[in-house]
Amino acid sequence: MGKCIVCQKYAGPFYSLHKACYRVYEDTRECLRQVLSSAVDTSVQADGLTESLNDCRPTLSFSLRPFESLVRCAWHDQAKQIVKRKVVNAEHANYILSVAPALEIEDKDVGSNLFVRLANIEHLARINQNQPISKRFTEMEDRIKLSDDETLIWVFEGAIKLERHKRAEGKHWSVFQSLLNNFKKSRYKELSALAGAAGDLAISNQNLYYVTKNETAIISFLAIYSITPVKDGVRIQSAQGDAMPDTYITGDGRFTYALLRYAQEQKFAE
Ligand SMILES: [Zn+2]
Repeated sequence: MGKCIVCQKYAGPFYSLHKACYRVYEDTRECLRQVLSSAVDTSVQADGLTESLNDCRPTLSFSLRPFESLVRCAWHDQAKQIVKRKVVNAEHANYILSVAPALEIEDKDVGSNLFVRLANIEHLARINQNQPISKRFTEMEDRIKLSDDETLIWVFEGAIKLERHKRAEGKHWSVFQSLLNNFKKSRYKELSALAGAAGDLAISNQNLYYVTKNETAIISFLAIYSITPVKDGVRIQSAQGDAMPDTYITGDGRFTYALLRYAQEQKFAE
């Protein structure tokens, strides 16, 4: 506390920005936003981009760390806009992903599955135009033994299947069950999500597979009644099991939903 991040002079006991320097700070933020936004439109090379972003730093007395964090905020805002746009633009998504290393932005720093969602956009754009997906998943092809007329379309790695009201089993029950009983339904969902183990959700033109270390569950498209997009995943109602819907969290609800519809169309177009 005390030193102003813009001019480095004392700013008072509880302040790190002078009132007058706040304007400079805001102008810097706006400059970064504009530079990045036009770079996305014109696909400027990463070197040129970092140079132009650095030109937004008003003086060298503007502390480096706050400046770098403004750069990361600008990247984050652009990336979020790109994943939220109704009309997907694969070039924009690939561009913003491609400059992340130069700006020292990593997947773990940004959260909300932003990297995954950006990377999926080019494939989402393809299926929206009814073009086949070019990506191959050979490792999974070997694991799930497809039938002759079956092709694997996509694999969501590390997808979480939300556990439904599971009977308490074995030694975990006392603590876990009594905890669950004390929580309201919404809280239960969160807890269940944490309790759900991750597996891989594989989608072919015939079936949906949920593959975990111990087992592979198969749901035929013929047995699916409905698919609903939910935040970060999909809910699937099928005639199998106890007829309760299953929720799969893949990190990208929009893409998962679109992909399943596309896969089903492949099946019923046959
Ligand atoms: Zn100042």
